[in-house]
Amino acid sequence: MVISLERLFSGECSEILLAETFDFSKEPVQGGFPFAAPVKLTGKIEAKAQVVSLNAEAEVRYQGQCDRCAREAERLYRVPVRHILVEELQNEDDEDAFILVENRQLDLRRLTLEDIYLFLPSKFLCTDDCKGICPQCGTNLNEASCNCKKEVDPRLEALLSMLED
Ligand SMILES: [Zn+2]
Ligand SMILES: [Zn+2]
Repeated sequence: MVISLERLFSGECSEILLAETFDFSKEPVQGGFPFAAPVKLTGKIEAKAQVVSLNAEAEVRYQGQCDRCAREAERLYRVPVRHILVEELQNEDDEDAFILVENRQLDLRRLTLEDIYLFLPSKFLCTDDCKGICPQCGTNLNEASCNCKKEVDPRLEALLSMLED
């Protein structure tokens, strides 16, 4: 979805309100397709003192398999989409700080998707404190506990058996 910033850059208007919905269901992440639900982007693009800035937030429902316990989970991420939009870059180093808008046309869909990719954690966890699976019996420790003994350092084990005697 491309929007024209013609009127903002020319000074004809000072802001454009954004309430967009994007379908990213065919965009892959590590071989899966986690964006089953539409992504909502809300915010605005405004021109102030000849600076055009984008201030928005994407509401992302991410569905995937937990990297620690392998259960299916859904989490809500609020991804900031904030950039200064410019018509030309002063030097190449500016590329990280500014978004170059060619012909005053901004590809908002692509920019939002890029920001989401950068925001996503490298490991997807069902909850921040996921307990994982027991390495010995395979029980999902979020759902049940098991009676496996924790692996004990053999030197400590020798000490413990001495104390028991
Ligand atoms: Zn988990
Ligand atoms: Zn176990």
